[in-house]
Amino acid sequence: MADAVVQLRCGVKNDGWGKKGKASAAAQLWSKTPGNPGIDESKTYSEMWMGTYPSNPSYLLSTGEQLGDYLKKNPQLVGKSVKDRYGPEVPFLPKILSFSKALPLQIHPDLKLAAKLHKEDPEKYGDANHKPEIAIALSKFELFAGWKPLKDIQSLFKLKPLEHFVPSSGNFDDETLRQVCKALLSASPNEVASTIAELQSIPESQFGTDSYIPGMLDRLSKQYTECDNGNLVAALLMNYLTLGPGDSVFVPADSIHAYLEGDIVECMARSDNVINTGFCPVATRDSVELFGQALTFTPHDAQGALLPRRKSDKGMQGKTDVYAPPISEFSVLCTALGAGENETHQAIHGPSLMIVTKGCGSMKIPGNTTVGLQEGYVFFVGQGVALDFSTDKGLAVYRAYAE
Ligand SMILES: [Zn+2]
Repeated sequence: MADAVVQLRCGVKNDGWGKKGKASAAAQLWSKTPGNPGIDESKTYSEMWMGTYPSNPSYLLSTGEQLGDYLKKNPQLVGKSVKDRYGPEVPFLPKILSFSKALPLQIHPDLKLAAKLHKEDPEKYGDANHKPEIAIALSKFELFAGWKPLKDIQSLFKLKPLEHFVPSSGNFDDETLRQVCKALLSASPNEVASTIAELQSIPESQFGTDSYIPGMLDRLSKQYTECDNGNLVAALLMNYLTLGPGDSVFVPADSIHAYLEGDIVECMARSDNVINTGFCPVATRDSVELFGQALTFTPHDAQGALLPRRKSDKGMQGKTDVYAPPISEFSVLCTALGAGENETHQAIHGPSLMIVTKGCGSMKIPGNTTVGLQEGYVFFVGQGVALDFSTDKGLAVYRAYAE
């Protein structure tokens, strides 16, 4: 019988926007798996991926076998409901992200557009799948997500340096916003820089409740130069949010977002498709036309981007919360235990991936086996297995699952 609970060795990525060396939570957690090399202080560590995605797969720590191969051989671990819908796979992809500057301004195509792009250019768009995602803060987490309310954007664009980006037609609706967004993304490097300079010469009070904008333009300009079109789109059109540990956002497919600074647990439907237009080199940007076409207009305020956490009935002792986005691919459990506390996860009827983000303890699994838990340890848990957690000093665990 194949083991239903297996510890994993995961891959890490080193994008330039990642935090450096030990400052990166992704690096810290990744380096704790036995056998992984230490942290190289000269490198940035942006992401750790958990799961079966082929470009950065996870391996069984005990045998070195790829998790994806293990599940193909043992499809019973995935459970019938998920296997019928997605095959013998983990249909979601959890990551730990650590970033000290803005990630590319992006959207992830919905199912219809993803299928079309994948057919036209399978090299660039490797997946026919959509990629809605959630992000849960492990630290202070700053991001841009969704659009500001239309009336706020409309009044902002009455400022002299911005007037000419607005088409002269009457109503200011979502179509107007699409045109404004495309105009900002199409502006020449000189025009972007001069618009930013003009905005910064206006008294902050004229920005109303968005008085952070001149300072934000300065901060973004220092990261990606004062010529990056993303500066204007993020600071002027999008909601700027600062979250604390445990807070979360849901980013539906086709929804505009750019993460700015922090450490997060991210989970998404299993896909790597992205359309970028800012905070990245011009040569790697996708077409403004494609980006503009794909845009959706939800959420339309900061509140709409938030994903509330609520008590989960999977936790028998009431110490488990769930982040449940309105999609079928996954939900994420969070169990936080103080010293001496314990919790039981009742059996889940589908695959799950779990990471210990803080503390240490142990986990009893059927067959009276006890598994040691340390910060950074990652596990695949097959369907139908109850888990008993206990800890002397405190423990935090995130567990993404589908059923
Ligand atoms: Zn994204």
